[in-house]
Amino acid sequence: MTRIALSPVTAVTLSKDAPVVEDAAIHVENGAITYVGPAADAPPFQADEIRGGEHLVAMPGLINTHCHAAMTLLRGYADDMALEPWLQEKIWPFESGLEEEDVYWGTQLAIAEMIRNGVTCFADMYFFHRRATEAMLESGIRACPSASIIGVFPDVPGQIAEARSYVSDAAGAGDGRILPCIAPHSLYTCEREHWTAVVDAAGELGAPIQTHASETRTEVEEVRKRWGATPIQTLESLGALDVPLIAAHCVHLDEADLEIMAHRRDGRSAVRVAHNPTSNCKLASGVAPVSELRRRGIDVGLATDGTASNNRLDIWSEMRLTALLHKAVELDPTSLAAAEVLEIGTLGGARVLGLEEKVGSLETGKRADVVLVDFHQPHLHPPHDVVSHLIYSAQAADVTSVIVDGRFLYDGGEHLTVDVERAMAEVDARARRLAAAAEE
Ligand SMILES: [Zn+2]
Repeated sequence: MTRIALSPVTAVTLSKDAPVVEDAAIHVENGAITYVGPAADAPPFQADEIRGGEHLVAMPGLINTHCHAAMTLLRGYADDMALEPWLQEKIWPFESGLEEEDVYWGTQLAIAEMIRNGVTCFADMYFFHRRATEAMLESGIRACPSASIIGVFPDVPGQIAEARSYVSDAAGAGDGRILPCIAPHSLYTCEREHWTAVVDAAGELGAPIQTHASETRTEVEEVRKRWGATPIQTLESLGALDVPLIAAHCVHLDEADLEIMAHRRDGRSAVRVAHNPTSNCKLASGVAPVSELRRRGIDVGLATDGTASNNRLDIWSEMRLTALLHKAVELDPTSLAAAEVLEIGTLGGARVLGLEEKVGSLETGKRADVVLVDFHQPHLHPPHDVVSHLIYSAQAADVTSVIVDGRFLYDGGEHLTVDVERAMAEVDARARRLAAAAEE
């Protein structure tokens, strides 16, 4: 495997002891970080590849904790609509024509975009998960794909049986880069017996559950009517909090929900939240109480959701929005400071996915998921505060190199594992076909 030296760089490590190290060196061997610290103290190292420069900042890869990758096919297809007609008149008719290869290419394009933007790990929830997983494996990205369970589709027992065999098949694939999950879509699209079977399967297989919860006020009201309690309280009564539960959105919560979510399970909160600020804004869902979640020790990561409701797969945008939005809503300029938001976008995301022992910070022994950012740009001068610049001034286009598991996936403007030209052409043609069929 390639031995990589990043030196000299400014290392934004996210480690407790030395969060920022100037004139740093990072050594990568067999996919893992073997040294991070002052370049002057670095041990001798024979590198195959060296990147460095006083304008380069190295940071942990960004983590996208909730996505429907292949929805790149729907980017820009239907915007600025109310949720119900948006889903019923546009999204679902379009998706009803989806074929396996559409999802494969939609996922390829999404991965290309995320890698280019410095995202090294993402959680995914969509149709044709096996084919999507192949795209993830081929690209070299780290991912938590999931087998979806949707009660409104036929043969739910068959879906659950497939989820079980998928989780067994995919566990540890790609040298451990793939962590397969089970994704019951939500409480309003799955019945009690579906949920019970999913919780049993997840518990037996040790697979995390990904789901949507408390996204809109309408959803909370509907779940209250149907299940007699809020989404979080219902999930608790179903035993879904006894397995790792990654809940996307969590916008509308009451005091009892927050107490349940904050309970500790294996060093993490009982519910781990994928915060989707752009999607929540675009669909007018509301604003999740992120500061309150953090105060109570509830794990929070950032997420884009699908490109139908974003329309970018760009954690830089989510970080900047997170740092701004909650200040405005809480009328408090001190809430969610830059360093805290950077932590949510990296290590916090790793914690949400249960991967914090492996990735999320630049520390010796962790897998090498590293992003290099070029600070030699007008909008990143003068160098008062590197962390401030990463949150308030930097943008996805400033990323110059992306390393996952010790392998370059993107370097100097070039994708090394995804055929981007082909992915764009395939997605364009397939999206045209799907849009035409949906209009019929
Ligand atoms: Zn979603």
